[in-house]
Amino acid sequence: MINLNTSIISLPTVGKTIAGRLKKLKIETVKDLIFYFPARHSDLGQVTPISQLDAGQTAVIKVKIDLIENRRAHRRRMFLTEALVSDASGAIKVIWFNQPFLTKTLKVGSLFYLAGKVDYDKFGLEMINPTYELVKEEQMHTARLVPVYPLTVGLTQRQLRFLIKISLGAVKKVIDFLPLEIIKKLKMPALPWALVQVHFPKNKKILANAQHRLKFDELFLIQLNTQLIRQALQQSRSPQIKFKEKETKEFIDSLPFKLTDDQRKATWQILLDLEKSQPMNRLLEGDVGSGKTVVAAIAAYSVILSGWQTIYMAPTEILAQQHFQTINKLFDNKKVKVALLTAGDKRVNFNDKITKSKLLELIKNGEIDFIVGTHALIQQGVEYKKVGLAVVDEQHRFGVEQRHALKQKGNLTPHLLSMTATPIPRSLALTIYGDLDLSLIKQMPKGRKKILTRLVPFDKRDAAYGFINQQIESGRQVFVICPLIDPSDKLGVKSVKLEFEKLDKEVFPHLKIGLLHGKIKTKEKEAVMKEFLENKIKILVATSVIEVGIDVPNATVMMIEGADRFGLAQLHQFRGRVGRSEHQSYCFLFTDSQNEKTTERLKALVQSEDGFALAENDLKFRGPGEVYGVKQSGYLSALKIASLTDYQIIQEARAEAEELIKKDPDLKLYPELKKKVEEFNLAVHLE
Ligand code: ADP
Ligand code: MG
Repeated sequence: MINLNTSIISLPTVGKTIAGRLKKLKIETVKDLIFYFPARHSDLGQVTPISQLDAGQTAVIKVKIDLIENRRAHRRRMFLTEALVSDASGAIKVIWFNQPFLTKTLKVGSLFYLAGKVDYDKFGLEMINPTYELVKEEQMHTARLVPVYPLTVGLTQRQLRFLIKISLGAVKKVIDFLPLEIIKKLKMPALPWALVQVHFPKNKKILANAQHRLKFDELFLIQLNTQLIRQALQQSRSPQIKFKEKETKEFIDSLPFKLTDDQRKATWQILLDLEKSQPMNRLLEGDVGSGKTVVAAIAAYSVILSGWQTIYMAPTEILAQQHFQTINKLFDNKKVKVALLTAGDKRVNFNDKITKSKLLELIKNGEIDFIVGTHALIQQGVEYKKVGLAVVDEQHRFGVEQRHALKQKGNLTPHLLSMTATPIPRSLALTIYGDLDLSLIKQMPKGRKKILTRLVPFDKRDAAYGFINQQIESGRQVFVICPLIDPSDKLGVKSVKLEFEKLDKEVFPHLKIGLLHGKIKTKEKEAVMKEFLENKIKILVATSVIEVGIDVPNATVMMIEGADRFGLAQLHQFRGRVGRSEHQSYCFLFTDSQNEKTTERLKALVQSEDGFALAENDLKFRGPGEVYGVKQSGYLSALKIASLTDYQIIQEARAEAEELIKKDPDLKLYPELKKKVEEFNLAVHLE
């Protein structure tokens, strides 16, 4: 008897090797197999009589084996298995390559389904390398909707289907955790039934029904979790930060520019949130360069004046350093003590190095008001006197736990301001980030010059290099982005390493060129960035590591190789690295693709400067996970079958979760569901 937690190693055909391969797919138990969902189904349901076959078609036939034998092909070491098979309507020749054991499996006189491509040679029609399966009561590989699974090297569809089929023997033991009233209300099928049908469905309608149930389950758990967090947040308390009208006005007046209306509005929304005793949970969305930092700084100023600390978390060390400088400048002449805390760099007083222990002491004693840093900010050993506001820049993973880590004396929860340049529609934001309020900065500061974007044709490459040379001669700097780090066998895809060599040795031998990619050590990366910032390096060749936030105003050319390999939203982010000064800036897109759709997609970037519109456009071509670069993060990693485009099911799940929590805030009546939510949480956090 198999159980849900029976190890795969005790299943037939699974030895150490196969077990190792399954483990790569995170399959270790029977339960994992049951929950390993097919990526799609191949529709092999229709059986065609041999007499009606056409060359070129993919077909399924039901045949008797009349004759089968092996022979060596002309080329040595190649085995051919040839068979003659027939049904009531006719006969056809079938050939398999290099599977000599088939003469033992496909016995003369027995009935088989064959599924494969019909070909034509001088003797007539034939089938090459078809999938075969003995005609049984129930088919697995042919003559039905056949599941197709994501595989790993050394594992076949046949093996997986076989193992999953066996595992489904234990499916009745899967507990249906969904409350009965929801099942009834939404006319949901039972979970075990859905699990069987999602693998081996009777027909397409049943498949859709099963998928709906399983998608709902995933999204429901997310929504439930979100609601529980919201509830917990509403019950927790935050410091109430009084709006300091006079000081805030003075601060805003002291800025070298006038705030845009959107910046004003966002600032106001945040200041109102801060006055409440419930923790703020706000996402500030604004395109690259729209000026989010200053909004955060104004909010922080109020917090600091009220005697609380602010922390500002950036995704990388380089960005933390840049923000440290920016924040210092903004608070110049103000009585605000700013510090930098990253793994590799600790500074105070604008630029003085300080030891870690000294800095931690100052932070703990509340002698620092504003701490800029990386994840180091929430690591063990960092204690704050009292944090009133946590600002998180471009991180999709700052969750409840991190907030808890920041809890301090008096048990007050800091307000949270999350910022992103990724234009995420609200419905998606809710699913990715959980429950939050949204502020938008849609307007760019006045006087920004439009970045001239061009899709450069093959024969204009040299002209582009000439142009770059001129820009550099007049003092500017250049980014070159490539999709890959190493040269690969993916023909024609540019790698940074090769491109760097080429530019360094052949095209611009007289210039200093820098190289930046994910495999370079942090220290070295920072050295390169520093030289680029100081205008010693003229051209920086990089992978997408450059994507977020880097601010080098003197750079005016963004040249993107293999542009077709990136999403529009991402390209737009790259483009946002230039156009940050009074100089005219340019974005050049290169692609080897001749595909019309690709060109059309890239032209959208040439024509539009609106990050939101581009992201929406992108969604048409790529999944949200890819578009928003959040595939691996948090909740999304828990989605095995549902996707962010299942808007309707998201709505449905949200409504049900809300209702349930209202009725039973602690899920006391639903122990199985409660257990499942906890399990789910754990899985998400272990990712
Ligand atoms: P992002 O939203 O991408 O984080 P930043 O906060 O880095 O943008 O701002 C980009 C640049 O625009 C900074 O140099 C900042 O000083 C400047 N800036 C911000 N707001 C305004 C404004 N209202 N008018 C002019 N420049 C502004
Ligand atoms: Mg920013």
